[in-house]
Amino acid sequence: MTELLYQTDSYLRSFNATVSGIDEDNHAIILDRTAFYPGGGGQPCDTGTLTIDEAMYSVRKTRKAGTDVFHILDGDDPFPSPGTLVQGQIDWEHRYQLMRTHTAMHILCGVIFRNYGASVTGGDMDPLQGRMDFEFETMQKELVNEIEKAINQAAEQNLPVRVAILPRDEAFKIPDLIRTKINLLPEGIQQVRVVEIVGLDLQADGGTHVLNTS
Ligand SMILES: [Zn+2]
Repeated sequence: MTELLYQTDSYLRSFNATVSGIDEDNHAIILDRTAFYPGGGGQPCDTGTLTIDEAMYSVRKTRKAGTDVFHILDGDDPFPSPGTLVQGQIDWEHRYQLMRTHTAMHILCGVIFRNYGASVTGGDMDPLQGRMDFEFETMQKELVNEIEKAINQAAEQNLPVRVAILPRDEAFKIPDLIRTKINLLPEGIQQVRVVEIVGLDLQADGGTHVLNTS
């Protein structure tokens, strides 16, 4: 099981960890803890490096496998053995762009839900650009301009972004979370991570975000 350091500190760029397993078929290293975001909820995974003694390994992809995070390596370098200490470094430019984009997308869906009552039906995220789908009866240029204005207002208001990890029962009592389909969470998940743009948006969410809307 990999401890997910990014869930409590999205600004963590480097970290120390211990190799807890190897998956040779997937060319992957499993660590006891990681700051690498393994992808999910629309946010692409992190890349970066792992340094072991003097050797630097390139992490070209990360992904979740059960409760482990796979750090998928480049090349045919020999694997370190379990128990080895590593230093991880994420590609911060890539990640920070995704944190900004991800948070901007929360502003978008928060504004649209607040002002028009429309929920998200789909989306896509890349560094510095994203797409979200909503169902509107009609969509005209005036409406788009109105939405854009409201989003820019929310950005300028410098609203704080807060993260909390709540017991499942408590999370289910928050009426706003129902629209994010929290009830689809598997039974086994007893804690729910909640991301809030104060006064605007509240989501059950495992991704990484910036600290405020500005
Ligand atoms: Zn999010």
